[in-house]
Amino acid sequence: MSTAELSKFAKSVFVLRQFALIRVYSRLAILLWLSASAAAQGKPAADLIITNAKIWTVDKTRPQAESLAVLRDRIVAVGSSTEVDAWHGPQTKVIDAQGKLLLPGFNDAHVHFVDGGDHLQAVQLKDAASPQEFAHRIEERAKTTPKGEWITGGDWDEQKWSPPNLPTKELVDPVTPNVPVWVNRYDGHESLANSVTLQLANITAKTPDPPGGEIVRDAQGNPTGILRDAAQDLVFKVMPPMSREHRMRAIRRALEHAASLGVTSVQNMNPEYDDVKIYAELAEHGALTTRIYVAPMETGWKDQAKIGLRHAFGTPFLRMGAVKGYADGSLGSETAYFFDPFTDAPKSHGLLSDEMHPPSAMRQRLQGADAAGLQLCIHAIGDRAISMILDIFEQIEKANGKRDRRWRIEHSQHLAAKDFARYARLGVIASVQPYHAIDDGRWAEKRIGPDRIKRTYAFRMFLDNGVKLAFGTDWSVAPLSPMWTIYAAVTRATLDGKNPGGWVPDQKLTVSEAVEAYTMGSAYAEFQEKEKGSITVGKLADFVVLSDDIFKIPPVAIKDVKVEATFVGGKVVYGGLE
Ligand SMILES: [Zn+2]
Repeated sequence: MSTAELSKFAKSVFVLRQFALIRVYSRLAILLWLSASAAAQGKPAADLIITNAKIWTVDKTRPQAESLAVLRDRIVAVGSSTEVDAWHGPQTKVIDAQGKLLLPGFNDAHVHFVDGGDHLQAVQLKDAASPQEFAHRIEERAKTTPKGEWITGGDWDEQKWSPPNLPTKELVDPVTPNVPVWVNRYDGHESLANSVTLQLANITAKTPDPPGGEIVRDAQGNPTGILRDAAQDLVFKVMPPMSREHRMRAIRRALEHAASLGVTSVQNMNPEYDDVKIYAELAEHGALTTRIYVAPMETGWKDQAKIGLRHAFGTPFLRMGAVKGYADGSLGSETAYFFDPFTDAPKSHGLLSDEMHPPSAMRQRLQGADAAGLQLCIHAIGDRAISMILDIFEQIEKANGKRDRRWRIEHSQHLAAKDFARYARLGVIASVQPYHAIDDGRWAEKRIGPDRIKRTYAFRMFLDNGVKLAFGTDWSVAPLSPMWTIYAAVTRATLDGKNPGGWVPDQKLTVSEAVEAYTMGSAYAEFQEKEKGSITVGKLADFVVLSDDIFKIPPVAIKDVKVEATFVGGKVVYGGLE
């Protein structure tokens, strides 16, 4: 054999061997394929199938469906009943949704969770129809108040009494000889202390009124128990911190309340570290029924930064890595900060927050927090406060470079015309609370006039400018109810009934836009849009079934729609469908 022939021979042997190998491999492949399809026949069945539902998925690739399947805590199938039925096994629980509307669970992007829960568990005085009823409810509460705790909250309203006289310590002293009472008027401007509390705070006839406050006195000059505005601080500063048990009770109430309203995730602004501690304990025991993202006060940003917690760090039930700050106050108290003065108070532009004195100090902290990978959520309400925060964000972007940071401006209430585009360019999320719009809408125009009102709670303008919206409530400042929030965004009908066609009606949203802002929008605002926010295969099985179809009923009826069942991670946490 010549060398050439030899080489040709060698080549053909090589080729033959290759063929042989391919045959072996393909046989292997067939075997593997067969065993794979055998496994497919014994594939895991779903734990739960919901059939006969009207599913609004908030997933643009498949907006509607009639059935879904859940395995462990995730959605594994979404589609027609026949498609989803492939997941049916002997252990699968099947629930017939009776044609009702099923939505992704609501994600409230701005709550004060422990305040909210504490509010629910506090003595309720708002509807006490007489001073006697007021005293009676406090007496009953005193019987169950653990030693060392105070009777607080209440939200009383003496205007419901005749005559409408302010309550006094004499009304409650006989029934509360040993327990401190400190109950607030519904507007928060006045509170009533009993004698025990006055003594603890060392308030006597001789105590002078503090600046900005008043100790209300009787004809003899003795304190009546009512402390007005800044005088309330005299008591707040002697109040003991919330006990662990008290905090735990408040959180459990808040969790129950959220479940009953279909709120499956909350983003907790300004929690105390002790709150987070209890969330972590509950999470460890599988006792959280609402997913929580916490954003503690920005002044403490180094606490999270020094151990390297970055945005959205944690588990599906508890995440951290955000900070919350304040740029200004509120419109109602004339402390929102504006370029132009208030229409009804021409000498005032409002106020910046303490943390904005000077703004450079705020910028330095936020820049540090941002460099550490923390997400920034900043409260800003007046147009000038918002503009100043956008300036700070621009400076931070220049200093720390571009990245996906999802800055948020909490409330984003009154915008300068030029700033919509800045939100869009910086990718700032407008974290808004539509209920405030129908509440403030009763009087806002008086305060800021006809021009600024056009860019107030301007949800439509945000969307038109390509700005992402996240919906929330600011609970306990407003009700936690998603139905009220959607009703507010869709109707913009002020609470006084004076704007049935909508207040600044061109800013109304459609029901589907509102639902999207409350689910995908809020999920995006906490970096969780791949985990939740829509009914999509692979996502967490968080969803709600409603009593009525909010896409079909008149918008005015949306506020009365009830949640029939709430599921978190595939488990029923409220109601049921049987
Ligand atoms: Zn808030």
